[in-house]
Amino acid sequence: MIQAEPITKTTWWIRGCGCDCYLVDGEVPALIDCGCGEVKIRRFCEALIQKPVRTVICTHAHIDHTGQCGLFDQVYMTERTAASSRNAMDEDPAKLHLDYTPVFVQDHEILKLGQRCLEILRCDCHAPGNIMILDHTERILYAGDELDADQVLLLPGFAEKAGQFHSAPAATVSDYRRLLIQLDQRREEFDWICTGHNGSPLKPEVLTIMIELCDRILAGEEGCPDCSSATYSARDRHFPYPQAHYRRASWKGFSLVYCADSLTDRAQNSSVIPATPLHAMCEHNAAMAQAVLQKNMKSNR
Ligand SMILES: [Zn+2]
Repeated sequence: MIQAEPITKTTWWIRGCGCDCYLVDGEVPALIDCGCGEVKIRRFCEALIQKPVRTVICTHAHIDHTGQCGLFDQVYMTERTAASSRNAMDEDPAKLHLDYTPVFVQDHEILKLGQRCLEILRCDCHAPGNIMILDHTERILYAGDELDADQVLLLPGFAEKAGQFHSAPAATVSDYRRLLIQLDQRREEFDWICTGHNGSPLKPEVLTIMIELCDRILAGEEGCPDCSSATYSARDRHFPYPQAHYRRASWKGFSLVYCADSLTDRAQNSSVIPATPLHAMCEHNAAMAQAVLQKNMKSNR
């Protein structure tokens, strides 16, 4: 069931719609990620704050974060995110809202929503084109799936067009460590980190723990071949196949799921091995989503 909880006086944490979304209230309200549930999230947000919510900002392309973008008048995302944001993955494209024209955002761009200033931070680790959003006004870092209370997944991106297939992870462990160091250098600018799943908000100290975790992996400590956890199991369609060589390494309660062949360089030899069942099937769904979009656009004319 969809529900809302205040994090600050002007920030709402919205759960139960595929991913955790954040409603940034003010003169120009905006939603960070929009989920993919049955409940129309725009209507839910407007009822909550009693004003129009026209804008959504998407952290990354995964359909659990972008499936309702078509309900909004203004959709901000990176160009790379837009390339695969209509890939329906294992969702039925007919139940999604995929008809929208995104406005592309750039690294370090400031989105001024009335008095509220949001800075775009390009990350590209959990998914190609992934961003975080730094809320200068409320001192919150919205991390999407780049940080998580249970596990961060460094998996490949999803197909951007029919016939295309990505198999190497979007980022190596050393790419991810570099991102964490950059964020850690700005730690004075935020008090909380709000994530896309599994409990929010996190304290900025999570950055130190994840950097230590990456250091341990890069120093040769091998993660566990069983990547499962309380919130991630072989029942999930985005759970790695054994032959894709993924590992789960944990430290002080946080985990990273990474490809053992992609510690410092992206794996060269995995070009034909899909990382997960979802990666194996989403090439097909990219074509299906495209067909639904074209049908919607025709009927809108
Ligand atoms: Zn994701």
